[in-house]
Amino acid sequence: MQHQIIGLVVSSRVNVDSWEIPLFYQKCGIENEVTLWQIKKGATIQCVVCAIKISLKDKGGSVEKGTKQVQDAIDSLEKTAEKLGGSLKVK
Ligand SMILES: [Zn+2]
Repeated sequence: MQHQIIGLVVSSRVNVDSWEIPLFYQKCGIENEVTLWQIKKGATIQCVVCAIKISLKDKGGSVEKGTKQVQDAIDSLEKTAEKLGGSLKVK
């Protein structure tokens, strides 16, 4: 039986937590890439230029809420695509 391929197929399921966003650091005038997971966990990152430590904070838990909504939507989309006999993955 052949499966219909819808969209781009990658090997693993989409994990919103691993998505990177640029964090602009004014002092150095550069962007440091941070993952949504790092923000949610309040991780400390190092500026790639001056190596200063930057503490991340998910103020009011908005990143936590936002990533959950996006993850739920993607999971639901993947399930629907599987039901159609296809495979949908976004990277
Ligand atoms: Zn810096």
